[in-house]
Amino acid sequence: MKIKKVFLFYPPGPQYQRGEDRSQGNVDNSTATSMRAPNDMAYVSSQLEKENIQNIFTDYSSEKKTLKTLITDFEEYSPDAVITSTTTSTIKDDLKIINFMKEVKKDCKFIMKGSIFFKAPLFLLDSLDLKNVDYLIGGEIEFAAANIINKINKNEENFLEIPGIFVRSNQVWNESKFDNWNKEIDDLPLPNRKKINNKLYFRPDTGEPQATIATSRGCPSACVYCLTPTISGKLTRFRSPKSIIDELEDCYFNHGIKNFFFKSDTFTINHSWVKDVCDHIVASKLNNKIQWVANSRVRPLQEDTPKIMKDAGCWLIAFGFETGSDETIKKIKKGATVDENLRAARIVKEAGIKVYGFFLVGLPWEKQTHLNETEKHIFEINSDFIELHIAVPYYGTELYEIAKKEGLLKAPVVGQNYFEEALTGTKFLSPEELSKWRKKVLLKYHSRPSYIFDKFKDSFTDHRKFFNYAKHAIKLYKNISR
Ligand code: SF4
Repeated sequence: MKIKKVFLFYPPGPQYQRGEDRSQGNVDNSTATSMRAPNDMAYVSSQLEKENIQNIFTDYSSEKKTLKTLITDFEEYSPDAVITSTTTSTIKDDLKIINFMKEVKKDCKFIMKGSIFFKAPLFLLDSLDLKNVDYLIGGEIEFAAANIINKINKNEENFLEIPGIFVRSNQVWNESKFDNWNKEIDDLPLPNRKKINNKLYFRPDTGEPQATIATSRGCPSACVYCLTPTISGKLTRFRSPKSIIDELEDCYFNHGIKNFFFKSDTFTINHSWVKDVCDHIVASKLNNKIQWVANSRVRPLQEDTPKIMKDAGCWLIAFGFETGSDETIKKIKKGATVDENLRAARIVKEAGIKVYGFFLVGLPWEKQTHLNETEKHIFEINSDFIELHIAVPYYGTELYEIAKKEGLLKAPVVGQNYFEEALTGTKFLSPEELSKWRKKVLLKYHSRPSYIFDKFKDSFTDHRKFFNYAKHAIKLYKNISR
């Protein structure tokens, strides 16, 4: 059977960051995050086009389209293969959709990507209704999906040469090599943005379209709750500045996109590469025309790095500050200190860049005193935007092993809401206590007159910003009062 048409989709329902590996959060439950562009599918689409394979992509969730529409589209398009992206939280519902589609077209091949499949143990796969899925991608989809389709089309059987996948044969899942990361990120064709409704993915404050640009991958750190070193590797693979500029120019000149999220597990880890990227932006036709956001660790972060980033258009840096507790920051192996959190926030603010602080509570050993320290730290950092997560010990992380050892794995992690619900509690605090504390802190933080005044000052001359801040405030208060 030849694959001539491929149906790529994100399922209907709540918005999850399906294109992400480690942060598959529920966007509706977040404080200030907006849905990121589906680069995973856009990379696959451009690779399929290179092979002259027709394909369409729809993000039914962001389009607010129903399951009925999805099935109608699927029937009308009548593809030979389907590729979708799942999350740990939504997998059970996503599999029901696959089963439904299989009923409609029995000879269709189904490929599912999700970080949950990274080196998944057989007991985990057996616990899921995967009977209608032919291939699972747990590694990097950009290097796997189109390769699978090509092998099907060439009647090749050596699928296990493709790293990071599972192949089903005679009802048995066979695993290819994981821990084998492709270094050639510069060789990938640019994501096919013609197939994306770019307006759906926007900058949260202004509502302008925002593209995601994969700038580097991998992280050498070992934070106990994080899947990145497992999924993307401990070696950071940097994309060349020229290749980044090519993609930025494609977005700007061909799609009218001026705002970007630089997707790196930790953008600032290599100062000379950051400087090189920023110098290339400043020397390009895009100088002073684009704005962008990046993630950073608080260490390493040279004193002059934020200023260099600001000059190249950076307006916001996101930090995983995580905690105000010296004990917790050591135990989660963050490789930084609470004082370094304060320093990083200070130098970024001094450079004129806004701070987006991410915090995490509910680690197995945490008591009320740890929460109090984190609350104090959240207020002393005084980030422009914050997210406050309750840790979920995902399979494959060290936190999972710790929680298991402590007898805290009370609920199955699969099918639960990533980082949002207090699933397991700590040894000393119940899920309800954690959740109540989280809501209290979020409300207290965002209802400070100084915070409201700052947001007003920032937006009163820009009606789009004003409107979007108001929208986020309503969402936040709705989430808190739920
Ligand atoms: S610094 Fe920690 S949280 Fe951030 S990507 Fe690396 S391992 Fe994950």
